[in-house]
Amino acid sequence: MEVKSNNITVERTKRSKIDQVDFDNLSFGSVFADHMLVCDYKNGEWGAPSVVPYQPIELEPSAKIFHYGQSIFEGMKAYKDDQGGVWLFRPEENQKRLNISAKRLAMPELPKEIFMEGLATLLQVDQEWIPQTKGSSLYIRPFMFASGNGFHASPADAYKFIIACAPSGPYFSGKVKVLIEERYSRAANGGVGFAKAGGNYAAQFYPTQLAVQKGYNQVIWTDDNTHEYIEEAGAMNIFVRINDTLITAPTNDRILDGITRKSILDIAADEGIETEVRKITVAEVINAAKDGSLKEMFGAGTAAVVSPISAFGYKEVDYNLPELDQSYAALLKKRITDIQYNRGDDKFGWRY
Ligand code: PMP
Repeated sequence: MEVKSNNITVERTKRSKIDQVDFDNLSFGSVFADHMLVCDYKNGEWGAPSVVPYQPIELEPSAKIFHYGQSIFEGMKAYKDDQGGVWLFRPEENQKRLNISAKRLAMPELPKEIFMEGLATLLQVDQEWIPQTKGSSLYIRPFMFASGNGFHASPADAYKFIIACAPSGPYFSGKVKVLIEERYSRAANGGVGFAKAGGNYAAQFYPTQLAVQKGYNQVIWTDDNTHEYIEEAGAMNIFVRINDTLITAPTNDRILDGITRKSILDIAADEGIETEVRKITVAEVINAAKDGSLKEMFGAGTAAVVSPISAFGYKEVDYNLPELDQSYAALLKKRITDIQYNRGDDKFGWRY
């Protein structure tokens, strides 16, 4: 056992799995790095974090995570540049958002030092797991759940915070065909849509399965009240380009405040692209598709980066988007990945 200068103890694995991984053919989030960071909350305080071998977690059947779903997470990536340097992208935004989620789910907030120093220590130990192959990165999953026991429907008295990592290739292969949702909702006003709570994703799976059966990759979520406004795309925020204006919905109770979304708004403005943060109606998008002013739609998120949408379905009709030579999606994806992989100027100071 080593003790790092920041007092984080490190127990290294005796059997690394790294030789079994084909780094040239990585799927997304399905093989896991050798180590994980673990930190426990009990008796009203967070204990000392430690790095240990990736391993199963032991919980009692009465652990409240199983019954009341107190479970939140983050998603971020570590990027390796051509010289082998390791970079994160705006990690403090994930740290802040984890605590926004924690508060909404009545879970304890995690001190910033545990998140940031724990992450740095874990990445030092597992740096060989950060792929250098094009389009690949180490997907990082910080998460927290109720490990305390009891059948009483109330917040748990103990929690676990873990960071586990998965060397990963692209999230989607190729363009994405989406279905605009008319019946189901992923979130409601006053609910937990703005939090990265596990239950939000559970609620999406069934409507997404129905869309997949109809030949779509993903659902575009509309507002829960009228289903007239376009809000989010699965685990991505959504952008619509009408003529030369790039539009995205304002964040609210129902929408995750995506780090990629806000970065894209800044980069687009820097490129001189006109941006609008405002409500977008389904009718407006359909009219624009019909009169040819709808140029692009794309999703934006850490996992999928910028994901162009090739077509969308609504009320049994499919609308195709044009193939553009010079799309905003391609330009914005290049600008953001150049920052992430340390290939270009970082004028916003986002690289870490
Ligand atoms: N919306 C939802 C529902 C998500 O799960 C994600 C992924 N975290 C996003 C948007 C994009 O957020 P970010 O750019 O911070 O990854």
